[in-house]
Amino acid sequence: MRERLNLIKPSATLRISALAKELAKQGKPVVNMSAGEPDFRTPQHIVESAIKALNEGKHFYTPTRGIPELLEAIAEKVNRENGIPAKPENVIVTAGAKYAIFLAMQALLDEGDEVILLDPAWVSYEANVIMANAKPIWVKHDDSFEDAPIEDYITSKTKMIVINTPNNPTGVVYPRSFLKKVADLAQDHDLYVLSDEIYEKIIYEGKHYSIASFDGMFERTITVNGFSKAYSMTGWRLGYAVASEEIIKAMNKIQSHSISHPTSFVQYAGVTALKGDQSCVDEMVKAFRRRRDRIVEGLNDLGIDYVYPKGAFYVFMKVGDGTAFAERFLKEEYVAVTPGEAFGSYKDYVRISYATSDEDIEEFLRRLSRFMEKF
Ligand code: PMP
Repeated sequence: MRERLNLIKPSATLRISALAKELAKQGKPVVNMSAGEPDFRTPQHIVESAIKALNEGKHFYTPTRGIPELLEAIAEKVNRENGIPAKPENVIVTAGAKYAIFLAMQALLDEGDEVILLDPAWVSYEANVIMANAKPIWVKHDDSFEDAPIEDYITSKTKMIVINTPNNPTGVVYPRSFLKKVADLAQDHDLYVLSDEIYEKIIYEGKHYSIASFDGMFERTITVNGFSKAYSMTGWRLGYAVASEEIIKAMNKIQSHSISHPTSFVQYAGVTALKGDQSCVDEMVKAFRRRRDRIVEGLNDLGIDYVYPKGAFYVFMKVGDGTAFAERFLKEEYVAVTPGEAFGSYKDYVRISYATSDEDIEEFLRRLSRFMEKF
């Protein structure tokens, strides 16, 4: 086996979810607050369009970069909503946003290149940097979680900065001022920025900015997005990247020789998702907002410290020893949460996902109140 794979840590999330599954199998009343996916059904009109595509025989290979209708719909969307001046040639459709991240890193990183990751960060960035033979450089956010001293960590080997807004695991929506700082650093030091905007639609306060729309940033930014969160399509595996034609061509080279392209009829469903009725998104965000408000209210009542979440569907909660908390909360109260160590160095935290039912949230708060008395 490749030696580098030893550098990829086994996921702390998997350990908790394996334990949660085991307890559920034993008939325990497990409340799962660790899921990274919306609990809603994919909207019916999107489902129907995939069935229609299949019934119409759209099951053959497609162009490796994606079907023209979808490339056009994405280019149109990012121009209109994100202010990114993309043409269809600037787009690649991928099997989930995760594969877009994999392709971008494989296409752009050389052995020994350094990639700045902001701590805490979603679990897969580090693994993807390592798989590309590059080196992750972790930079801790400041106490606001809305800024980080990136400038102190840039060296002659730095090649890329990875940002994620709205953020998993903190729920922070980066202010324009921080993104402007990242943009200035990228231009001063000739760096790429990989901007993961998968939670852009799930936002309650603040405004989402796409760094690729900033002056001089289009050519050096890879904007990653997808359908998993906005349209509750996690299992469909559909995402995309927007970047310069040169970067997209390099990513497509790897895609064409690996997975070829995302599933044909799934791509047709993607066109419907982007061009169809968007009220499904509004409904989902309304439900997430209600849940967020309830959780925040519950945590305030219990006097628990947390990062105030303005977007995504997570709360990053400060509990002391996050790893011990997660294990004991599961064993004693059958509640699954993700320990902060899964996301970097924030071992005092756990991440709660509120992509769960209102009933589960009430039950979570009841059990948390009981558990806090003994933890
Ligand atoms: N980026 C972030 C920040 C995520 O949380 C996730 C999903 N957990 C992804 C990317 C991957 O999404 P996809 O299902 O489109 O691969």
